[in-house]
Amino acid sequence: MNISIVGSGYVGLVTGVCLAHIGHRIICVDNDPEKIKRLKRGEIPIFEPELEGLLKRYFKLKKLSFTVSIKEATQKTDVIFIAVGTPSKKNGDADLTFVENVAREIAVNMNSYKLVVEKSTVPTATGMRVQRTIALNLPKKFQSNKKKTIAFDVASNPEFLREGSAVHDFMNPDRIVIGVESKKAEDLLREIYKPLKAPIVVTNINSAEMIKHASNSFLATKISFINAIAQVCDRVGADVLKVAEGMGFDKRIGRNFLDAGIGYGGSCFPKDVDAFISLSERSGYDFALLKAVRNINEHQKRSFVRLIEDKLWIIKNKTIGILGVAFKPNTDDMRNAPSIDIIQHLQSEGATIKAYDPQAVEKAKPCLPGVQFCKDVFSTVSDCDCLLLLTQWDEFKKVDFKKVKQVMRQTIIFDGRNFFEKEKLEALGFEYFGIGRGKL
Ligand code: NAD
Repeated sequence: MNISIVGSGYVGLVTGVCLAHIGHRIICVDNDPEKIKRLKRGEIPIFEPELEGLLKRYFKLKKLSFTVSIKEATQKTDVIFIAVGTPSKKNGDADLTFVENVAREIAVNMNSYKLVVEKSTVPTATGMRVQRTIALNLPKKFQSNKKKTIAFDVASNPEFLREGSAVHDFMNPDRIVIGVESKKAEDLLREIYKPLKAPIVVTNINSAEMIKHASNSFLATKISFINAIAQVCDRVGADVLKVAEGMGFDKRIGRNFLDAGIGYGGSCFPKDVDAFISLSERSGYDFALLKAVRNINEHQKRSFVRLIEDKLWIIKNKTIGILGVAFKPNTDDMRNAPSIDIIQHLQSEGATIKAYDPQAVEKAKPCLPGVQFCKDVFSTVSDCDCLLLLTQWDEFKKVDFKKVKQVMRQTIIFDGRNFFEKEKLEALGFEYFGIGRGKL
């Protein structure tokens, strides 16, 4: 099928490349001309495993093209996915300006039937508003003559991929959610996803939008739940790793998302939880549970900083080495990374910060002024008074701690992800502090 994707960021680009991979002809659109220029040269503006090779292959095969023109994309394709950002407003609501702009631009350029699909994460009832925006902005000749008006459908198809394994997730989804109001829209979306052979949940648009918000909120709740458990573990001498293991074998609970740490970050959970709280409030329901989830998440960062202050004593003039700044491993995404708040606090107390991340340094530089970025682990930890692990990249598993010990000024490790082996490090003579490992 001929499909266009408006918004070529983490979601749009992966969607475009993967839909090309399963046999469709794709036009990826972005209003950032620099991004489109780079994509046409075969350069990808983000780090995402597997993406670059596939992008180059389908670009060469002319199954994938790039443009800044929504007009071109609308007129040359039958199905248009909207995958632009939906950031938070100051009051927590989702800012849907980009979605509205795109809907309007699609409308004015319509030349035949189109299926417009929301891929972006949006609050319930956005589909209805997109529908209305398109109807109000159709070319005048279609508006004035009701008999000759142009037919179109709006659908919701939320995305559940995770950055860092986005291509794999897109190609192997647990389920595909399709929110539609017409059989034609359902048939088109079923046809698009047929090669993936995944379970398909068909519902109306409002429920599809709600499924995405409810899913992200539930996952954030699981993270905050285990972080709250970790807080108690520290106070009563239990080990959260064992607690999570013991809970996780229970099929009703599951082991996933029971990793205690410095809290969730990234471009989705914080903003989607905020937006869902806001949406619930507007609808007349006080979602106290989600407010607690958000508070626990914020508390987790503060309590990590307090732990460092307690064990390091004076922060002023101390040099702190940081491994990992991206919000999670296998991505260069710095949006809402917990590292930002933690580093800013330590800087405000007078610490010198050295940091290393395998992929996120370029994106981290503007978010973390004053940080000295290093080329590898050893230059980062050299002459440091303590080491902080903030992102659990695989390559940190291979670090030779015997050598690390020789170059650090004080051998203290704060493991914000419970990633290193406490016993091994303690046997080497490090002071080790994890999250919820008991007896602080
Ligand atoms: P992003 O910021 O990486 O990408 C959005 C892109 O849209 C940018 O490249 C921007 O230039 C472009 N854009 C904005 N306005 C435009 C316009 N008028 N015309 C053309 N292009 C325009 O965002 P993202 O992380 O890909 O997220 C997109 C949506 O998907 C959000 O709603 C997000 O919540 C949702 N989502 C994200 C993830 C994730 O892991 N990142 C997962 C699932 C869902």
